[in-house]
Amino acid sequence: MNTLRDEVGRTHTYLRLSVTDRCNLRCTYCMPAEGIALRPHHEILTFDEIERIVRIAAGLGVTKLRLTGGEPLVRRDLLILAGRLTAIAGIQHVGLTTNGVLLGENLHGLVRAGISSINISLDTLRRDRFRAITRRDEFDSVLSNIDLALRSAIPRIKINVVVMRGTNDDELPQFVDFARERRLMVRFIEYMPFKDNGWSAETMVPFEEMKSRIENLVELIPLPERNRHTSTKVFSIAGGTGTIGFITAMSDHFCGTCNRLRLTADGRLRPCLMDAHEIDLRSTLRSGAGIEALQEILAQAIRVKPQGHRLGQAQSPRDRTMAQIGG
Ligand code: SAM
Repeated sequence: MNTLRDEVGRTHTYLRLSVTDRCNLRCTYCMPAEGIALRPHHEILTFDEIERIVRIAAGLGVTKLRLTGGEPLVRRDLLILAGRLTAIAGIQHVGLTTNGVLLGENLHGLVRAGISSINISLDTLRRDRFRAITRRDEFDSVLSNIDLALRSAIPRIKINVVVMRGTNDDELPQFVDFARERRLMVRFIEYMPFKDNGWSAETMVPFEEMKSRIENLVELIPLPERNRHTSTKVFSIAGGTGTIGFITAMSDHFCGTCNRLRLTADGRLRPCLMDAHEIDLRSTLRSGAGIEALQEILAQAIRVKPQGHRLGQAQSPRDRTMAQIGG
């Protein structure tokens, strides 16, 4: 039975776990060149602590997890954690969001651990531009790791592209071709404002504009939503293998069907990505609290979750970078 239901009827079945605030890239839209002030190790949740929280969440009806960060694959022994989480009763799906740099060497382990979907961030198909956006020279490894992932037993692969006007929005056609030829979904993400990330309204390319620019070139066929909580509008490409998705957090938010909770690497529950309110779960956990106290913290997160966010307006939260919250 799911008890993580809020007063507007949203049932929370999806927990996104940031396992580290560290990252091996420095994407301009995500963190400053010099990186961010990292939490000391003792403030980061241990595997035992993460597993304990997930067991409690699963008992309250959570069925789906996503491992993210920072870059989750830089967390030592992540595969061990992944295996422990997929084994928890009630957890049906564990996904991973990664920049792909370390994916090749971890693929077999991820398959063995039971990971069922991998989202790989790739904002450009040009090596020079990759370097400018990520401030690192890892384009070739990411591209070849995407190929390896496609040949692996991971059932679902998605590519996340943050679309920024004047930076990479001229590559929409190339990304459509990329999806046309491969068994994956390319998801175009509307650029969102976070702490120190250079966002401005002009740099955000809204969904309708992206869609009509693509439709000038190819026919997009809307696909029915398989999951009513989805954050993505999905289309097939006439004559293509893969699909195209749009994440419209800015122009058409999906707060009314949001089923997500986030847990930051330092143990704070964040009910809404776009609202700075966080609840300190780590202190309760480390104070030796019993299961009921921890269940109550999860229930509290649901009670304080806003009904909708105010992205794009002056109140947009800029309290933490995306890497600190967990994207
Ligand atoms: N390191 C991993 C990765 O690169 O996928 C996981 C963490 S990253 C913060 C998760 C996702 O958030 C990535 O797909 C990234 O592109 C997206 N993201 C980060 N900052 C964003 C922003 N300002 N607007 C939209 N998406 C953003």
